[in-house]
Amino acid sequence: MYDSPRILIIEDDKYIQSFISLSLKTNGYVFDRASTGIEGISLFNNNHPDIILLDLGLPDIDGIEVIKLIRENSEIPILVVSARGQESEKIAALDAGADDYISKPFNMGELMARIRVAQRKLKREIHGDNVRIFNLDYLTVDYEKRQVLIDNKEIHLTPIEYKLLLLLIANKGKVLTHNYILKEVWGYGETGDSRTIRVFMASLRRKIEKDKSRPRFIFTEVGIGYRFADE
Ligand code: CA
Repeated sequence: MYDSPRILIIEDDKYIQSFISLSLKTNGYVFDRASTGIEGISLFNNNHPDIILLDLGLPDIDGIEVIKLIRENSEIPILVVSARGQESEKIAALDAGADDYISKPFNMGELMARIRVAQRKLKREIHGDNVRIFNLDYLTVDYEKRQVLIDNKEIHLTPIEYKLLLLLIANKGKVLTHNYILKEVWGYGETGDSRTIRVFMASLRRKIEKDKSRPRFIFTEVGIGYRFADE
């Protein structure tokens, strides 16, 4: 089922809707289209899609409301389609439970890359994520031994840095907001200070990135949060 997921597009802009449809069709995906939030919710309920592509500026209800309504009973991957520069809107969508966003204008390659990330989330949910070793390029994490290795040499991380790294890896390819990271790692949300994250992120990067000016693993999403490399 996850090899060819059914995608629901909720987008009122006809041009973007047909661009997305064409991209999905070209890549062999099955999809449904809605032009309003209400229509989207009803297609969600009736057609049981696997992934949702959601525009936030809809003519009837706000896209954020659509996310909240869907999140009441589903963990389906939601990918928000948002205008570039609308950082506060993206943060609100991610905090409401969206998985990721893609900024307009985007090309087919970017869209497909984001959909592949969402598909991996689906696979993880179906098969469970019980890997014991994570490896990407020169970074290895052995979860059982709680060891982090760079080029097969063990490095030392503080407990917070280790927690941060595991959180990033568990969500690789996906952007995590400052609020989300504060909540997951430190246990508090909105009241936390994103400067705290910056300090720990900087020391984590010093330990795992070979070239901090051209990061291999941890990317900054300016004004929003961080994203761990997808591959
Ligand atoms: Ca719109």
